[in-house]
Amino acid sequence: MKRVSTSTAAHRAAEPAGVSSLPVVETFCSLQGEGLHMGRSAFFIRLGGCTVGCSWCDTKHSWPGDSHPRQSIDALVAESETAAREGAAFVVITGGEPLHHDLGPLCTALAHCGLPLHLETSGVDPLSGRFDWITLSPKRHKPPREALLQHCDELKVVVSCGADLVFAEAMARQASALRQGDPKAAPALLLQPAWNDPEGLRLALSHVSRHPAWRLSLQTHKWLAIR
Ligand code: SF4
Repeated sequence: MKRVSTSTAAHRAAEPAGVSSLPVVETFCSLQGEGLHMGRSAFFIRLGGCTVGCSWCDTKHSWPGDSHPRQSIDALVAESETAAREGAAFVVITGGEPLHHDLGPLCTALAHCGLPLHLETSGVDPLSGRFDWITLSPKRHKPPREALLQHCDELKVVVSCGADLVFAEAMARQASALRQGDPKAAPALLLQPAWNDPEGLRLALSHVSRHPAWRLSLQTHKWLAIR
């Protein structure tokens, strides 16, 4: 099982080294709705705080990190252990932008649960923590750091206009170049139409149908009206 780890960030949020709690928007069990793990049982930890500012964001309530109660890492581990007993296949750390925080202590503690750890990130911050699966969803207005392009397992680009397709191809080329062009080491490439966006859906369908390296990702949890 792959584990990716890097040192923590110097400029990261005002959290002391050895942070023992994090702002949490919500925790819940559901199915992973998007990407290659779509349809699998998962336990989600949604951390508060995001300064990336995507116009289409569907979790804007997560943006102000200070407005969400801090939860101890011990409590998050206990919840994850319960989720594992109830059938979760993996833990997803999402947000907000989870890498605004030092995820090292959380990942170290969660490793004892025995579940694979997944990360969903825009990649604007340095990578921290150890993960078995990294979903990088890069944003055109705030491109990701090279380390995330180099280590992500899937590259998922939201599409609402033609410029997003140009950006997606540029990100795929950069990820490939950073891996010395080894196609086996390249991330899975996914285009995800923005929700309720007919033009984004048309563009993504058209691109995927003509470019076999890419596949379509849909927000199936929204279609199913589940979390
Ligand atoms: S990075 Fe994610 S949480 Fe932050 S604004 Fe963009 S879509 Fe929303």
